[in-house]
This record gives sequence, structure tokens and C-alpha cells, in this order.
Amino acid sequence: MPRSQNLLTLSALCAALAIAGCAAPPAAAQLAPPAAPPEPHPPAGTTLTAIASGSTHATAAMAYEGGRSDDMRTFVAGAILVQHPKGRLLFDAGYGHDLAEHFKTAPKLMQLAAKPHLDETVAAQLAAAGVPASSLTAVVLTHAHWDHVSGVADLPGVPVWVSGAEMGFIRSGDSDAELARRIGLAAYHAYDFPDGPYLGFARSWDVFKDGSVVLVPAPGHTPGSIVAFVNTSDGKRYALIGDAAWQSEGVELPAQKPLLTRFVDKDPAATWQTLRQLHAAKQTLPDLIVVPAHDARVWARLPHLAPGG
Ligand SMILES: [Zn+2]
Repeated sequence: MPRSQNLLTLSALCAALAIAGCAAPPAAAQLAPPAAPPEPHPPAGTTLTAIASGSTHATAAMAYEGGRSDDMRTFVAGAILVQHPKGRLLFDAGYGHDLAEHFKTAPKLMQLAAKPHLDETVAAQLAAAGVPASSLTAVVLTHAHWDHVSGVADLPGVPVWVSGAEMGFIRSGDSDAELARRIGLAAYHAYDFPDGPYLGFARSWDVFKDGSVVLVPAPGHTPGSIVAFVNTSDGKRYALIGDAAWQSEGVELPAQKPLLTRFVDKDPAATWQTLRQLHAAKQTLPDLIVVPAHDARVWARLPHLAPGG
């Protein structure tokens, strides 16, 4: 199909979605708020900083069910750096310097609808801030989609941690994990969740054993997607939710992705369950800062990595 026809088809789909977007989303059956997790004890110097690498744009109607077609959103892509006296973890890696080539591995509909723009790679910003890539303990992927692994190519030799289920997903040959395989899996390590329930999630891994970084399985968007709870020494609590929702309304309302873009979720029902769990977690911890991987409004309010350290 010629590109112009493709775009026409896409426009028709978007118009249909805009109409569908007028309908109120179905009322969500609420989950009971979970028990509060153990009090975290992050040591002094445990910080979180955002490193945006670039962005693309789409309407709220494309981002969550009930979103408006006249509400344009910026979809940021980047990494979240968590520094702890015992190690530095980089959550996701944003757009890398080979963005144009890497984007060719994205789903075809996304290639038609999105125009990702690279501002500066995460690797370059780390270097400018005096954080050598060699000092990173690991890149921890919320999931293995192209826009989260692209920047891994700029960080050779840094270990990449994925959940066991995500490693299976990558190795399954699924086209949605093509870029992860193409960049290479030599540095990848699969981990498990040996610790107990955490804030309504059945299993967890308390990485530093002090409650500062707790990873939980949150399958749906991909089979091995995770949520990372990060508790910093200034008393802030964050939940890095990857692409369970693209914009914060996904948890606030809660709301699924709209039908037109829900194909990006490998298991939409499981994604919906994750969103309901996070919505309930917010009732237990009202100050929890929920950070979708692509909501530029949320990222703008996070601490930022400054050049020169
Ligand atoms: Zn993404």
C-alpha cells in the first residue's frame, strides 16, 4: 500500500477513535488498597534523576481510553538514574544515537503515526555529568521494547538486567523484541523475584535489601514487564511503571490504552490488572509519584541530571 494510502487509513482510524473517545470509559471495579509495605531505609545519597533523550507526540486519544483527540501530549523517552551507595542503576536507556535505524524495528503502525526526535543520548548526558558508563551497576529494563533498549547500544559492556520472563520473551523471537536481539544479549542477565509480596504485587526483589529499590513483576505490556518502586533518601516514593500506561491518567483514572493502540500490549487484560493494582497502591500511598516511561509532564517534575555532575 502506498504511504499516502497508509496515512489515509490511519487518519480514518484516528477519526473513528476520536468518536470512540467521546464515550466514557467503563467504570473500573476498584481493588482494595493493599497493606503498606515495610518502611524503606534508603541510605544518605540515594537519589533519582531523569535523563530525557528525546520525544515524540500523540494525542491523549491515542494514549488512554477516554483521552481527547484535541489534547496533544509529548511522549518523552529516556532513562531514570538511581544512585545508591551500593550501586548505580539506570532504568531503561531511551533513544540511542542510531535512533533512525532502531525505529525501523518498531510496529508498522507506530512508524506511520510517530516521529521520534533525538535530543541527546543518555550516554552523552551521563558523560557530561561525570558519570562514566563503566560506573553503572546495570541498565534495568522495565521491558525490552525498542524505545527502551535503543540507548543500550551506546553503553557497551554495561550489564543489562531483565526479569526471567522478559528474557524468555526476547529469546522467543517475538518481533517486538527484535532490537534487543539485534543489539546483542551478551550483557543480559535474568533475575528472579525472591522476596515477598509488596504493595499488592505478589512477589518482589529488594535489590539493596533496604527498601530503596524494589522490583515487582507486572506482566501485560510484555510478559516480563516490571514496576520499580524507588524510595530516595529525601523521603520521596516513586513507581517507575514502564509502559503499563503511557500517560499518568492510566493509573489515576485508571484507564487502559485505547482500542486502536492496545495492540502494543501483549496481554491487555494483565496490563489492566497492573493498572488497577497501581491505582489501589496510590490509595495506600497517596504521595507515591507514578512515573510512566513516556509522560513528559511527570518527567518535567522529576529531579534532572545536571551537566558537570
Ligand atoms: Zn515505550
